Amino acid sequence: MGKPTGFMEYKREVSKEEEPKKRIKHFNEFHEHLPREEQQLQGARCMECGVPFCQAGMMICGMASGCPLHNLVPEWNDLVYHGNWQQAYNRLKKTNNFPEFTSRVCPALCEAACTCGLNGDPVSTKENEYAIIENAYAEGYAAANPPKVRTGKRVAVIGSGPSGLAAADQLNKRGHLVTVYERSDRVGGLLMYGIPNMKLEKRIVERKRKIMEEEGITFVTGVDVGRDIKADKLLHDFDRVILACGASNPRDIKAPGRDAKGIYFAVDFLKANTKSLLDSGFEDKQYVDTKDKHVIIIGGGDTGNDCVGTSIRHGAKSVTQIEMMPKAPDSRAENNPWPEWPKVCKTDYGQQEAIALYGHDPRIYESTVKEFVKDKDGNLKAVKIVKLAWEKDAATGRMNMKEVAGSEQELPADLVLIAAGFLGVQGYVAEAFGVELNERTNVKTGAGQYQTSKENVFVTGDMHRGQSLVVWAIREGREAARAVDESLMGYSNLVVQ
Ligand SMILES: Cc1cc2nc3c(=O)[nH]c(=O)nc-3n(C[C@H](O)[C@H](O)[C@H](O)COP(=O)(O)OP(=O)(O)OC[C@H]3O[C@@H](n4cnc5c(N)ncnc54)[C@H](O)[C@@H]3O)c2cc1C
Ligand code: SF4
Repeated sequence: MGKPTGFMEYKREVSKEEEPKKRIKHFNEFHEHLPREEQQLQGARCMECGVPFCQAGMMICGMASGCPLHNLVPEWNDLVYHGNWQQAYNRLKKTNNFPEFTSRVCPALCEAACTCGLNGDPVSTKENEYAIIENAYAEGYAAANPPKVRTGKRVAVIGSGPSGLAAADQLNKRGHLVTVYERSDRVGGLLMYGIPNMKLEKRIVERKRKIMEEEGITFVTGVDVGRDIKADKLLHDFDRVILACGASNPRDIKAPGRDAKGIYFAVDFLKANTKSLLDSGFEDKQYVDTKDKHVIIIGGGDTGNDCVGTSIRHGAKSVTQIEMMPKAPDSRAENNPWPEWPKVCKTDYGQQEAIALYGHDPRIYESTVKEFVKDKDGNLKAVKIVKLAWEKDAATGRMNMKEVAGSEQELPADLVLIAAGFLGVQGYVAEAFGVELNERTNVKTGAGQYQTSKENVFVTGDMHRGQSLVVWAIREGREAARAVDESLMGYSNLVVQ
């Protein structure tokens, strides 16, 4: 700890966000980051307090507290303060393959568990991470660093999301020859075709893919494994296969009128939008246009928020988010103390934009869709919603949701986007490889393990743990890589944490 007066001397300062009404005119990132010297002072706020929650990534009361990658947060905060940027980068890379992604999209579990946040403002760890990695690119030391020795072992990774990429990166560094298969036309999984460009510009994903190629990883895009190429062929051509296909089976809403024209799953909507943006700057019109439409988004979570921001950017007339759960409190409840993850109401970028544009929060809580109302041509024209109340079941003691009689309401709707979560993996890849699924329709392994029921086939990321976060996907990828390396070599020197 280099600055004895740390957080008492320096206030938390973070990047400036472009005003909502201005940023909705484009699809680019909208944060103006602090100059390097000011960011260094933010590093000084960390007192290396010896209370390790920020880097623990442990489950407390069923929720993760601190960084799941065990990033060496106090160490690199101190290095940032001292302006030792290259060493900060070296320490950051030790535990995190992709700080350029996490420093943009991570919900910053580290900051929620920071001791400074106990009764003040946490250290701006996520933005320190951003400064370290972007500085490393600017100075040239994030450039390709291929392995010096090759083992001759070959590994296929199916799926190029953060988990597959992390596993590929680790195994390549170890000297194995890695080929990543991706069914989409671009690499990145949900980093590319889920998270919108304004949260993570796709040139950042491309920048990293290029480096990984220079380091020796082969990317094969546009190949749907299990359909375009047989599992047996891969098992024959490679020593090991890692399944990293995500958990992209969307939860549907089974209400009358579901066949109305104008209802889309959120990820299909978001993917088409980003693809059209990247392919042609929207000139090809191959996206779902929300201009002058009443848009209803089912699901009040992060994916729903991305749909809000995207719909607004195309000029939606109105945007409404329907959420089953009650609104979370604005500050921590007494039964949710630090360093637990704070279960508080978050008003994310899309919702902020909706408030600025339409004058109110787009979320309607404790409600669900009862019917999709169609016109005579089968087009969606409205959505009937109903209020829900939570009631205790006298027999089981469990809380159940009941519709509130007479609370139905009809909202005009030209377009519905379903962002109601995911129900595990798409079955065909698991079937093609003959791997067993668990009760949550994710691929089954022993606890904390990555080997599937099929010899030489491993699994990682959302396909293993269910829909989660980028930071967890990277951790899974690192752990799966270590398991594969051990199985190939009899031991592993790959660092997981
Ligand atoms: C809209 C949205 C926004 C999100 N925003 C955030 C956020 O801001 N922050 C955050 O931390 N997390 C966010 N998440 C969650 C996060 O993106 C995921 O947890 C993470 O991407 C999972 O990584 P993965 O590598 O396991 O799978 P994925 O990212 O889902 O990648 C799987 C890849 O496998 C490919 N694939 C599947 N089957 C095959 C096949 N048969 N052959 C070849 N390729 C195949 C898919 O095309 C895909 O590219 C978001 C999720 C969604 C849906
Ligand atoms: S990866 Fe996320 S939780 Fe970990 S240090 Fe970075 S911002 Fe914090």
